[in-house]
Amino acid sequence: MAPLIEVKNLKKYFVVGSNPFGTPTSWLKAIDDISFTIDRGETLGLVGESGCGKTTAGRTICRLYEPTAGEVVFDGQKVFDLDAKQMLGIRRKMQMIFQDPYASLNSRMTVGDIVGEPIDIHGLAANKHERLHMVHDLLHTVGLSPEHATRFPHEFSGGQRQRIGVARALAVSPSFIICDEPISALDVSIQAQVINMLEDLQEKRGLSYLFIAHDLSMVKHTSRRVAVMYLGKIVELAPSAELYRNPMHPYTKALLSAIPIPDPEVERTRQRIILQGDVPSPIDPPAGCRFRARCSQAMPICAEQDPEMKHNDGHSVACHLFD
Ligand code: SF4
Repeated sequence: MAPLIEVKNLKKYFVVGSNPFGTPTSWLKAIDDISFTIDRGETLGLVGESGCGKTTAGRTICRLYEPTAGEVVFDGQKVFDLDAKQMLGIRRKMQMIFQDPYASLNSRMTVGDIVGEPIDIHGLAANKHERLHMVHDLLHTVGLSPEHATRFPHEFSGGQRQRIGVARALAVSPSFIICDEPISALDVSIQAQVINMLEDLQEKRGLSYLFIAHDLSMVKHTSRRVAVMYLGKIVELAPSAELYRNPMHPYTKALLSAIPIPDPEVERTRQRIILQGDVPSPIDPPAGCRFRARCSQAMPICAEQDPEMKHNDGHSVACHLFD
């Protein structure tokens, strides 16, 4: 069966400088030629440090940002070829949950109106009674109660606000949700609850997720496959268990070595790979491999050629060590 979503050679550059005539002269290359697929009912984890482009990738896929180049095919439709009216139909199927449950909800609206807004936009309820019934149903689905509909976001905890955000996303019965660091702003004790809820919803509704995170430990148990991003590019993509057992790219190895192990004996002897230097600017990324200034295994070719993605049995890596 064809994947639900195909991202092909996607690029998103932001203009950051222009000459006196308004012609762009420099660009921030937030995402620079990334490709992946997501199957129906699958979760793909997208991981990397802050500023690597993962949030821009999520926003470009659902066309909150217009792409610079590339293609996204969603359920057989080329997303970037659609007009505004056709895009409204796609937005029903493709939703986003945001990182900050404090900033992503309108503080002046009741929870009922926040969850009911997409129902109104897409004309999904025949009348007010049906709308109210749908809102109550959605709140129940995410573990809240109908009485919460008349309250305002500030009356809720972080975890409850994220549930409201999930209810809003579910209001239009999507098949794909981009989860942009949905648990990073939450207490550790609440994170597992939100993850369990998302997994439960996935099982019951057959949802596909793009799960964006800055830490490999956050996607280990939620994602069937994981893609690692560095400075606008995907450097490694593999089934989750394979990636954790056999990381190939030096950057993935460094990220994995940073995850604490909950066994004091093993933790004491754990070898950490400390990355040297800072992430280079995406405005003027280095030629060749973008990771080379921080890579302990860099070779002369790494300064000359951008490594191409090599594929072997579902495990893909972009590094000259595997040419
Ligand atoms: Fe390191 Fe070269 Fe591989 Fe880049 S291509 S990760 S610099 S070895």
